[in-house]
Amino acid sequence: MATPNFYSRTESLLAQLTRDGLYKHLQMLEGPMDATVRLRGADGAVREVVCFCSNNYAGLANHPEVVEAGLKGLRDFGAGTASVRFICGTFSPHETLERAIARYMGTEAAYTFVSCWNANEAVFPTLCEPGDIVISDELNHASIIDAVRLATVIKKGLHKSIYRNNRLTGEDSLEQRLAEAAASKDVTGQIWVVTDGVFSMEGSIGDLKTMRGLCDRYGAMLVVDDSHGHGVMGRTGRGTHEHFGMIDPLDSAPTRANRVDLFTGTLGKALGGAAGGFVAGRKEAVELIVQRGRPTLFSNALPVSVACGATKAIEILLNEPQRVQRLRDNVAYARERLKAAGFDVLPSPTAICPIIVHDTAKAIAMSRRLLELGVFVIGFGYPVVPEGHARLRCQVSAAHTRQHVDALVDALKRL
Ligand SMILES: *Cc1c(COP(=O)(O)O)cnc(C)c1O
Repeated sequence: MATPNFYSRTESLLAQLTRDGLYKHLQMLEGPMDATVRLRGADGAVREVVCFCSNNYAGLANHPEVVEAGLKGLRDFGAGTASVRFICGTFSPHETLERAIARYMGTEAAYTFVSCWNANEAVFPTLCEPGDIVISDELNHASIIDAVRLATVIKKGLHKSIYRNNRLTGEDSLEQRLAEAAASKDVTGQIWVVTDGVFSMEGSIGDLKTMRGLCDRYGAMLVVDDSHGHGVMGRTGRGTHEHFGMIDPLDSAPTRANRVDLFTGTLGKALGGAAGGFVAGRKEAVELIVQRGRPTLFSNALPVSVACGATKAIEILLNEPQRVQRLRDNVAYARERLKAAGFDVLPSPTAICPIIVHDTAKAIAMSRRLLELGVFVIGFGYPVVPEGHARLRCQVSAAHTRQHVDALVDALKRL
């Protein structure tokens, strides 16, 4: 029998996706990301629709000062770095941005990457060693899952285990996995615990305070990817650690007790939305990543224009706490109206409001109908969420007005 040819196999896979109603059509934007966007339809016509599916939580993606800072970076430093950081790709805007991130996060040091995906792939394969174990929440972001998988390949003898989403005690919990690791004779090194700060598909949050307590009991390192928490969580939007009071006031010397050991995060969501990721934590950990991380040694630096835009976005966020308050007010209003309209939305302080519809094809059909009604919300199904848990994920922004939220709820009611 002939071996299946790649192209014929792929053709039938793609055809199957279409038959099952799972085929994703990329939506084309003809203008900037904002509360409303200009969307090109299948017929080629461009329409303005209200956007409830971007990660532009703080409304900074098209902020005039962020755009201007990027343009200035482009004029002053040119279009590209044309190098990885350790050769000749580190420009002074990288230094400025990394200081701004460390200040914002309340950590000693920070280092940037072209994405948070890369940041996670730098953390685990670099910092973990054979004999260590990584204990991971089952609903952690794909980039954490893949980074841990990669780490177990690069560092043979590195162990991993998984606990139920947000379950800290009892059966299949973090506590159980910690106890197992402590009792295992194969685990001879460091125990690592990793969680999302805000779970991107649920809008739920990791209980960092309780996790810190558990980690302390077992001498474990706590790593938090807070990509959806930055610009959203905590009174001033510094993240889920601010929400739990595990942060020092701005510009005070970082405390080491009762803190998250290492953070990763993205600049591609609330913090300007362009691109880029970072690690933030103690100097030694960040320094080892600079010295040994494969994404730091073999991949280009963040474009300077992007670094300049992100620095400005963080500055605006910290100078305008009313922006975070507006987001919080919008979220409360959206949840209240959605609930009043009979939708099943979970209470949560995050800007993510998933509406569970179970079936993937149904979620995709619903989002298509919403678009006809002038509201842009994406339906998510397998493999982004587990089979049978398909949903419409509504994401609220500080850029939205009450009228925008009303438009969302009214369109949902008409479905
Ligand atoms: C969005 C997201 C990422 C990916 O960030 P990029 O910078 O786009 O690679 C990583 N982790 C989490 C938790 C995210 O939500």
